[in-house]
Amino acid sequence: MTTIDTAVSTMRDGTAVEVLAAEDAPTNTAPTKNEDAMLKIWMDGEFVNEDEAKISVFDHGVLYGDGCFEGIRVYNGRIFKLRSHMKRLFESAKAIQLEVPYSIEELEDVLREGVKLNGIVDGYIRPVITRGKGTLGINPAQCPRAGVFVICAKIQLYPPEAYETGLKIITCSRPRVNRAALDPAVKSLNYLNNIMGKVESTNAGCHEAVMLNAAGQVAECTGDNIFFVKDGKVVTPDLEAGLLAGITRAFAMDICENLGIPCEEKLFGLEELKGADEIFLTGTAAEIVSVTTFDGEPISGGVPGEVTKRLLGEFRRLTSVDAAED
Ligand code: PMP
Repeated sequence: MTTIDTAVSTMRDGTAVEVLAAEDAPTNTAPTKNEDAMLKIWMDGEFVNEDEAKISVFDHGVLYGDGCFEGIRVYNGRIFKLRSHMKRLFESAKAIQLEVPYSIEELEDVLREGVKLNGIVDGYIRPVITRGKGTLGINPAQCPRAGVFVICAKIQLYPPEAYETGLKIITCSRPRVNRAALDPAVKSLNYLNNIMGKVESTNAGCHEAVMLNAAGQVAECTGDNIFFVKDGKVVTPDLEAGLLAGITRAFAMDICENLGIPCEEKLFGLEELKGADEIFLTGTAAEIVSVTTFDGEPISGGVPGEVTKRLLGEFRRLTSVDAAED
């Protein structure tokens, strides 16, 4: 298991990079051909070595970003919020009229087996449903069967210092994709809107970018949800603003409720966000992380705020031993 763990951590680091600041992302090393060190990837019915895990160039997931996915954490051998993630995966598939050729229960079994097989104790799972093989036209009706694969790997967090010092973020010049055009609540394989926002934040030397909707309301960051704290109250954008209904977002709201901290979902603009006492982000990879610089200005005096620290402490406590799989 140690062998797998070691190899996995060197080779897999890029896996969850979509939510990591580029400057924090480790450099990938060349993949090793050591058979034992290879990840076992589930490809539509069977586990294969990662160098055999390939999909067709005619898969519309590749040709058009047509498909959906999830990112799920494993804490201490337990798959955190497994059922919530699988429900969201199937909802995303339904929203794009993509039929998943397995049941939720069948895929959950695959994830559990993949975790065991790859010796993952703390890690990250990426189930992906693609439209499948088709013709070169965009018509999904030409793709008879969805493609499904599952990667169980390690994850590279923001470095521990980021949780001590907080993140730097900017306002993205590009709006979040319009809900009516393509609802960001669908976790589709089409991440270019977010990717371009990420590029903008990286170019500015920042970790993340806040994306507004076309009406100028705060929606979310490129790979994380956003919260602010004002006068002891926690606030996060209402789903109406057009954002992914983050599983960590929901969990953070539950934590607030359990701790007796008032928490509200509402629509708000940049001005209100900039007047916050604290800002923090949530996400499967990011967990709960403080923002201490926003568009070059310090937030909460440039150090993580007390409410954020309390929520992170509780998050860590609840996930470290017996992470809920609901
Ligand atoms: N927004 C976007 C655009 C994301 O990609 C993610 C990461 N999945 C999130 C929010 C956070 O969602 P979750 O807590 O479910 O990981």
